[in-house]
Amino acid sequence: MTIVREISGQEHEHVLAFRDEATGLIGFLAIHSLKAGPAVGGVRFQPYRSDLAALTDALRLSRTMSYKVALAELPAGGGKAVIVDHPGFKREAGFEEFGRFVEQCGGRFFTGPDAGITAADLAQVRRATKYCADETSAELGDLSLHTATGVWHAMRVCLAAAKIEKPLVAIQGVGSVGMQLARILHENGCQLTVADTNRKLARAAAKDFGAEMVGTDEILSSICNVFAPCAMGGVLSAETIPTLKARVVCGSANNVLNTAEDGDALHQRGILYAPDYLANAGGVIRGVEFYLQQRIDSRASIERIASRMQTVIDLSIERDRPTSRIADELAEARWKLPAGQSETTPVAKEPVTQGATQAVSSGATRNINRRGRRQNTRA
Ligand code: NAD
Repeated sequence: MTIVREISGQEHEHVLAFRDEATGLIGFLAIHSLKAGPAVGGVRFQPYRSDLAALTDALRLSRTMSYKVALAELPAGGGKAVIVDHPGFKREAGFEEFGRFVEQCGGRFFTGPDAGITAADLAQVRRATKYCADETSAELGDLSLHTATGVWHAMRVCLAAAKIEKPLVAIQGVGSVGMQLARILHENGCQLTVADTNRKLARAAAKDFGAEMVGTDEILSSICNVFAPCAMGGVLSAETIPTLKARVVCGSANNVLNTAEDGDALHQRGILYAPDYLANAGGVIRGVEFYLQQRIDSRASIERIASRMQTVIDLSIERDRPTSRIADELAEARWKLPAGQSETTPVAKEPVTQGATQAVSSGATRNINRRGRRQNTRA
């Protein structure tokens, strides 16, 4: 039985807490915006210090998703789910239960992979909902690879702008996206330094791509000309920015800047920052184009990340303003477009169930007992 409780939304359209005693499922879904279309965003699985820390992560990540889809000109809004990794969580059953919760949202939230999620986890989610990307689909392709490809498009523009001819890229985190990025960079002649808390993964990158392996506490200040954060958010802060050796920061991690002022600090130091949600939009571009717009191929759309990056760099130079601020303004300007200028294609084709309407349309605190729906929600 999943208990769903709506928390006061503030700037978000919906914020839902969900938990299921039988499986130990505890998490939050934040839907930042439904204005341009259904909220899209991955599900993250990691240990959190507290429920408040998990909720804060969901709120920040879903807001970033709104910026990401707006800047990528996608007919979607921003959302994000986080699930708390704790010893009492029964992984298989818990992810399936999460899938039931997503199904209950009736297509207002469409999810996919994020940090800490394995292919097996997503397969469990998909047992109970159709509103989850199927990375085993050859037509869709590997979303992490699409993300890494987009990061590369942003990075190559940054390399040219910073006149870096021999890229030495320090990758923090060689998980799903970081490892794909390492391969692409290796194929494009970049030298690599890698670090991962999972040393097996770092060793694999060292072996496969000739990368130098360093400790996780060294990677930020390691000798390089590009720093590629591909792990967790908040890594660039007042403490860490002065230690950076890189001239470019470009990676896949969401919410890399600890605060908006950290983008200003990078600009002041002359470090070219590829705004995270601009660079890492490849996966969501593919997901939205595939599921909402039935596009067969998204390579050209993902490649447009390069021209967007160039626009942001040009405006940043012209106005002497941080790339992070320029990207925010461009994304916010898209929100203000008159209705009709951004196409809206809802994910849900089926009629929305009563339960789903309750879960995402009420501003009031509400408990929903979903035990009776278990048999019916299997996809
Ligand atoms: P992942 O969990 O597969 O990989 C993250 C890796 O970082 C793991 O191998 C982990 O061990 C490592 N790590 C964690 N903390 C670390 C630290 N302090 N130092 C070094 N390594 C550390 O996750 P992912 O799907 O590759 O996502 C990585 C980042 O990219 C996340 O911030 C995610 O939100 C973002 N992102 C992912 C996608 C996608 O398509 N998967 C899309 C857009 C953005």
